[in-house]
Amino acid sequence: MNPITTIAHDTWREDALCRQTDPEIFHPEVGGTAVPAKQTCAACPVRRACLDYAIDTRQQWGIWGGVGQKELRRLIRARQAEAA
Ligand code: SF4
Repeated sequence: MNPITTIAHDTWREDALCRQTDPEIFHPEVGGTAVPAKQTCAACPVRRACLDYAIDTRQQWGIWGGVGQKELRRLIRARQAEAA
């Protein structure tokens, strides 16, 4: 990843709604609920940028952009297939 991309990726974090919440809700235990995290993401102004970042950097754990691990892995695979 080049430095310009990294800077652009990081600016959205300043407006991330999860900065005002308990970070633990974005990493629920197995069998735990992701609902509080997804509700926070639904109201977050940088949801799209967050999800793009998670896909670009292949984040596979936690809730990103309102998307859980299973869906995030599917989106990562789809983007990889597009790039191939
Ligand atoms: S979309 Fe969710 S995880 Fe991403 S920055 Fe917003 S609140 Fe945080």
